[in-house]
Amino acid sequence: MDETSTESGARRPRLILHGGAGSRLEDGDRRRAVQNSLCEIRDALFEQLTEGAPADEVVVEGCRRLENDTHFNAGTGSVLQSDGAIRMSASLMDGRDEAFSGVINASRLQHPIELASHLQDRVDRVLADEGVDELMRELDVPVYDPTVRKRFEEWLRQRRDGFDSDMADVIGGGFEDGHGTIGVVARDAEGAISAGTSTGGRGFEHIGRVSDSAMPAGNYACRDAGISCTGIGEDIVDECLAARIAVRVTDGDSIHEAFETSFQEAEEHDRSFGAIGIDADGRIAWGKTTEILLAAWHDGESRGDTLDLPREGMIDGRRV
Ligand code: ASP
Repeated sequence: MDETSTESGARRPRLILHGGAGSRLEDGDRRRAVQNSLCEIRDALFEQLTEGAPADEVVVEGCRRLENDTHFNAGTGSVLQSDGAIRMSASLMDGRDEAFSGVINASRLQHPIELASHLQDRVDRVLADEGVDELMRELDVPVYDPTVRKRFEEWLRQRRDGFDSDMADVIGGGFEDGHGTIGVVARDAEGAISAGTSTGGRGFEHIGRVSDSAMPAGNYACRDAGISCTGIGEDIVDECLAARIAVRVTDGDSIHEAFETSFQEAEEHDRSFGAIGIDADGRIAWGKTTEILLAAWHDGESRGDTLDLPREGMIDGRRV
């Protein structure tokens, strides 16, 4: 997509966010509720970008809002691991400094993305388990229980059935507020790109299983592109998806070519995930091997979401 720079050199901001990928989203009311929520947050964030807010701040704010929304599997409303505990992961990558920071298996706080953001300025930028607890004490972050009743009941059902699901009901089916991992990618008026991703994980996992969301496989940004992924974390790690797409863009592919090649490989390897991205020229892309990807974007002129789009293809905002 071409864009016109203003006299001051400012560019039109771009934004895409997601609320997970998966196999189904059957219930009409629930579908609308998720769509409304994503679109409302998109519009609020885009306004901040047009008012001059930097990409990293908008990404953190977007992740905060999505973490607060129990439609999604991040922050409040996260899924439980097999022992009934919540262990959340989140990361932020600022494309200007190419600095990645994150928290892994954080249990008792409201906004994992805030800690990930705080770690941007530290020497040690990825903390796990007791490292997260220690940082919370240091920063006086209040202890918070992100468990919601429906997630607990879902866990009870799964325990009865011997945890036979590959993944929690993060997209739809019988769980009223069950949707996925969240992610936000923004490019601000200065052209800086930032990506953030936050998750409760796959659900019912082995105690201490680590999600892709706080790895460069699941969340990556550089000067050329920002990418956030969702879906089966092991598949995302095996493809090193976010970094792979971004590196392809750095090496000269357009973001659409990079998505196309990466998702072709993913289909060949029978992977199950989706991803969103923006490049330095402001092109927006998304792709999925799953049936649905819950995403909404604003390309500076038009806005839309992916909920009603067919399974096939990568697409940018303008072509929808
Ligand atoms: N990628 C996340 C994980 O495997 C789950 C998701 O995206 O829904 O931890």
